[in-house]
Amino acid sequence: MRITMIGTGYVGLVSGVCFAEFGHTVTCVDKDQTKIDSLKQGVVTIYEPGLDRMVMNNMDHGRLQFTCDLASSLKGVNVVFIAVGTPNRSSDGNIDLSYVFSAVEEVAKHLEGYTVIVLKSTVPVGTSEQVAATIRRVNPRVDFDIVSNPEFLREGSAIIDFMRPDRVVIGTKTAKAAEIMRNIYGPLLLNETPLLQTTPATAELIKYAANAFLATKITFINEMADLCEKTGANVQEVAKGMGMDTRINPKFLNAGPGYGGSCFPKDTRALWDLAREAGVALPIVAATIASNDERKVRMAQKVVDACGGSVAGKTVAVLGLAFKPNTDDMREAPSLDIIPRLQAQGAMVRAFDPKAMDVARTLFSGLHMAHDSYEAVTGADCVVVMTEWNEFQVLDLKRIHELMNTPVILDLRNIYKRDDMRDAGFDYHSIGREPVLGAVRERMRAAS
Ligand code: NAD
Repeated sequence: MRITMIGTGYVGLVSGVCFAEFGHTVTCVDKDQTKIDSLKQGVVTIYEPGLDRMVMNNMDHGRLQFTCDLASSLKGVNVVFIAVGTPNRSSDGNIDLSYVFSAVEEVAKHLEGYTVIVLKSTVPVGTSEQVAATIRRVNPRVDFDIVSNPEFLREGSAIIDFMRPDRVVIGTKTAKAAEIMRNIYGPLLLNETPLLQTTPATAELIKYAANAFLATKITFINEMADLCEKTGANVQEVAKGMGMDTRINPKFLNAGPGYGGSCFPKDTRALWDLAREAGVALPIVAATIASNDERKVRMAQKVVDACGGSVAGKTVAVLGLAFKPNTDDMREAPSLDIIPRLQAQGAMVRAFDPKAMDVARTLFSGLHMAHDSYEAVTGADCVVVMTEWNEFQVLDLKRIHELMNTPVILDLRNIYKRDDMRDAGFDYHSIGREPVLGAVRERMRAAS
């Protein structure tokens, strides 16, 4: 199959490369010339483990190309995937489909023979129909089918997620397009990956419903963490006990600073907007959004409390800026909300992230970027673990303790064991677990 993939972001690039790995001939198109120039050199523009090797390998085998020239990429193509961004508009917060429709209009002008147009971007119910209408308007003679094929990969494990998905969802009204999609995903179907074939509208809603459900699950355990802190229960054990129930499942039950990233915040909001326009109330989704927004405020307050009630004039070291580990994606990362709140209360904030520093530099003001974790914590009055990167889990705690001004750690991801932190002499605060206290008092007593 000859595939054109429009958009080489986290989804388009990973999907395009994986389809090439399946043996298809893939041309990835982006309007960002710098990105394409870099990809042509084999330099991957995002951080995603294992992606660079796969890009090189498939380019070497002649199955993968990059271009800004959409028209030439469409010559003799069987399937066009639209994988451009669908962010929230800054003006009103509603979903911005302009990238999708501008890509579709361009595609429509250049289509020749029968082509399957696949929407991989996450879009509201009804968008496939509107895309079909747009193509018919721009090029009335074109022979095409529309497919909705939402993507469920997670950044940081995108390749494994794409290669071993829980399911592939194909929304189409024609058997011809369904057959071509089965062909595209052939290697996965050979491995018995479940394929759900449905209508475009249902496929579109499956994606939003799945994301809203996962966001709700995270928010639920975060609320249980708050209750644990007041009652002396341990949220990690609560989550473990809940997750042992196969009806619940242990995934997405890690309490933390609130969900972020490029999908959950925007997709929950888009689902709520969609429902409101349809005259349907979604109180659970609304509560999830509100609870998650409120959580960032409370996390900032938790830092202030850990610092003894004020951060004014204090140095706070933040470990991790990206919304999750193994990605450099900063979109809607909790750090973007929490750090400015601390700065507004007079904290001097120093930060380190293993991969997101370049992106982060453009997003914060007055944030000191450290070269590594140890530089970040030097002279700090409090360390905040914001993202659960593996390397933070194996830091030399003795050295951290020596470097800090006051040995206070606020672990927003529960990556450390309480006993280890007590042994290392920290005041240790985490999420939904009893704090370990006394070290700071001891240190002050020893100093006086
Ligand atoms: P992204 O912002 O990383 O990448 C989008 C790319 O599309 C950019 O490189 C941009 O230059 C390019 N683009 C925009 N308009 C274009 C046009 N007309 N022609 C060519 N290129 C164009 O976005 P992303 O994170 O990959 O997300 C893409 C879609 O997939 C979104 O709808 C998102 O909700 C969905 N999704 C994302 C994830 C994720 O983890 N990031 C997971 C599942 C689904």
